[in-house]
Amino acid sequence: MLSEADCLLIGAGAGLSTAAGLTYKGLRFTDNFADFISRYGMSDMYSSSFYDFDTEEEYWAYWALHIGINRFDPPALPLYAELRELAEGLDHFVITTNVDHQFFKSGFDPVRVFAVQGDYGNLQCAVGCHQRLYDDEGLVASMRSAIDRCRIPSELVPHCPVCGGPMDVNLRKNRYFVQDESWYFAQQRYDDYLSHAANRKLVLLEIGVGYNTPGIIRYPFERILQLRPRTTLIRINPSDLQGLAENAAQTIPFGEDTASTISLLLPASIGVNNG
Ligand SMILES: [Zn+2]
Repeated sequence: MLSEADCLLIGAGAGLSTAAGLTYKGLRFTDNFADFISRYGMSDMYSSSFYDFDTEEEYWAYWALHIGINRFDPPALPLYAELRELAEGLDHFVITTNVDHQFFKSGFDPVRVFAVQGDYGNLQCAVGCHQRLYDDEGLVASMRSAIDRCRIPSELVPHCPVCGGPMDVNLRKNRYFVQDESWYFAQQRYDDYLSHAANRKLVLLEIGVGYNTPGIIRYPFERILQLRPRTTLIRINPSDLQGLAENAAQTIPFGEDTASTISLLLPASIGVNNG
């Protein structure tokens, strides 16, 4: 299917970054958050990201660490590099709920990536009083180096430059999520890509997308299958593999290990030359 495709639309969820090595539990969690685990009883980086801290100093100490180890410390991970290799030579586009910037780091053309749910690397006004994002790399580094007993110094707590209220990480978790110009530009590029692919042989490659936010990738992909009989869905996911029964003939599911499956789909592995 990949060797015969005209267009490749990649839809990637949390399972891809987990498979790439950005796991939210185990040693990556216990090594980096030992103080937070003993103080707050946290159990993994996913649930701890919903922890209701009493003070902004604690909130930002947690988030500076979380953002640092998931967004700024990791280089482009090999699994993402393989995915880019897989997409090379194909007319491709990426839609992802991941906020770790890995598609950009691994060299995907930024105009071919729509990161719908935000980016750990940006801050916004906590109540979205204005639609602008602020690069947080320098601030996060300062906060991390100043953490003391699970707090940062009050002078490092960020404030909205417009309303003076609290800031937050640019993640879609409530109705205040900020979508700036570049977000709308990416959404438009995605819509344009879908129109452009309408009469071509399209392969949807869905990786690690579960039922946390299925309305962004999973359900729209199933809908594309219903509307476009020439489209094939390759679904890679060790769990939640089952799709809509009426789309089964157009779906190729892989419940095996995500990283190994992607490696086996590389042009060199399947003996074809993309393009
Ligand atoms: Zn504001």
